Amino acid sequence: MDRMTTETSRRVLLAAPRGYCAGVDRAVITVEKALEQYGAPVYVRKQIVHNKYVVQTLEKKGAVFVDETAEVPENAIVIFSAHGVAPVVHEEAGQRRLASIDATCPLVTKVHKEAVRYAKEDYDILLIGHEGHEEVVGTMGEAPERTHLVDGPKDVADLAVRDESKVVWLSQTTLSVDETMETVDALKERFPNLLSPPSDDICYATQNRQVAVKQISAEADLVIVVGSRNSSNAIRLVEVALQSGAGASYLVDFADECEDGWLEGVATVGVTSGASVPEILVDQVLEWLAVRGFADVQVVTSAQESIQFSLPKELRRDLRAEAAAGESA
Ligand code: SF4
Repeated sequence: MDRMTTETSRRVLLAAPRGYCAGVDRAVITVEKALEQYGAPVYVRKQIVHNKYVVQTLEKKGAVFVDETAEVPENAIVIFSAHGVAPVVHEEAGQRRLASIDATCPLVTKVHKEAVRYAKEDYDILLIGHEGHEEVVGTMGEAPERTHLVDGPKDVADLAVRDESKVVWLSQTTLSVDETMETVDALKERFPNLLSPPSDDICYATQNRQVAVKQISAEADLVIVVGSRNSSNAIRLVEVALQSGAGASYLVDFADECEDGWLEGVATVGVTSGASVPEILVDQVLEWLAVRGFADVQVVTSAQESIQFSLPKELRRDLRAEAAAGESA
């Protein structure tokens, strides 16, 4: 890109929607409220959401992040992350007499329920997702003997199912919509009787953020995606930006990771953020751009979001009990 740019021609296209989805918002508030309600420490199995800043902030408030329930002291409180857990993890928590609070996103729980239902109906489940991702591990744990992981079209040829006329596909919630459909097409070719899930497994937030980044990428020389490297939906945004015409695209956790060299010859910068990114981190990237002559920020809105989820039932119960005790005191 050797186009000459001037202060006046430089602009930022800011994608909307971006950042926090309803499931992340709920999970983060769950940890904050649990800390207020029960006091520190509150244990959290895995990162509550895949964002470095969020995890560091909650750690400072007294959350202790662990990899496995075995690391949580007996009788302590443990919160399960937004990505969901396999039933065996609930069992382990019960055996250790932990008080568990399940912050699994309701849209992940929906996929778990589909897996249980199709396994009961004796289907083989072809789960499209990324090997090793926590959500995939949790969903597969609902019916391990019936579920086959499909990590892209390359895996389709080697799939061995019990009955080719009784197969259903499900997916991780944070995949690329376009790439998933390529995998589904390959599966349909291999299994003509393949059943589809009753509704989209890729969640509304993932889909909306991909549509939004597509819209800004067609006009952007550079797209900066704010998000962590272990965030599936944020990584997908970089891929979708590049596939949709962005000259370049980078993922940053923090504004100080942005590089001046990225702006050489650039007139239009697109900015967006993954579903687990608080807006303060986007504001800091916008400030970084503004001091480099990119102060003209135009918001490009492709959808409105109003979804909210109520807090986990275990926490609501204790908050209600506390409120009632306060009233009667
Ligand atoms: S990205 Fe989607 S599935 Fe994941 S927490 Fe957000 S709303 Fe739930």
